Amino acid sequence: MERGEIISSQVVKLTVLGSGTCVPTKKRGSSGYLLSTDTSSVLFDCGNGTVWKLEKIGVDYLKIDNVFITHFHPDHTSDLIPLLFATRHPYGKKREKPLGIWGPEGFFEFIEKLREPYGEWLRPELVEIHETGKKKQNIGGLEIKTFKTLHTENSIGYMIYVSGKKIVYTGDTGYFPGLRKLAKRADIFVTECALPDSEKMTVHMTPSDIANITKRNNPSKIVLSHLYPSMDGKDLPEEIKTISGNGETEIIVAEDLMEIVV
Ligand SMILES: [Zn+2]
Ligand SMILES: [Zn+2]
Repeated sequence: MERGEIISSQVVKLTVLGSGTCVPTKKRGSSGYLLSTDTSSVLFDCGNGTVWKLEKIGVDYLKIDNVFITHFHPDHTSDLIPLLFATRHPYGKKREKPLGIWGPEGFFEFIEKLREPYGEWLRPELVEIHETGKKKQNIGGLEIKTFKTLHTENSIGYMIYVSGKKIVYTGDTGYFPGLRKLAKRADIFVTECALPDSEKMTVHMTPSDIANITKRNNPSKIVLSHLYPSMDGKDLPEEIKTISGNGETEIIVAEDLMEIVV
């Protein structure tokens, strides 16, 4: 994969809106990430609480250009309902440009089924639903390529190239060897690290899996997210560095409302 063409040097900022899972805790809400550049604001996943948190950090939800969904689990999709409803009834405000909502194969059907009980409430104007497909695409100034993940039948992750930066978001996934190549020279590798090694599952990752990814393919920054409550109170960066022997990659444990600039 070639790096995207550098259009201009601009600030690329990732804001973690939800670093948790389906289990709500005081510290962590469900998955949601805001990627902002000088020219666009996009969301990756839209779990419960995402839209409200946008308002909390002063980002107008009507200014979001695109939303990219990794899979259909409720902790990644449930705030699409308030997002669409609030777009239809924005209370004195107005959406002025189209909102693209993208998801994996089966997404058209998923949205149509959501609209069965909610009907017109989930049919605001200026909203376009898309399935991402497999080809690299330029979407609102970002080069986007998806990859299959090991989680559900249709689950995907996203590789984003913008302003010469490579950002990878795994969504939920178990470990598979292709993740090492995906992480190579990433400026930010946002990965799920859901559970401790003692609770290993095939569809989620643990610190040993992350160490396997970072061993030889150093991303500059790795952001550990989608953390179940049993991950709190652990020194995850130290644990991963000890297993991998790689002390170069900066390992950040995500927190809700944390901002990372590249
Ligand atoms: Zn999840
Ligand atoms: Zn999931």
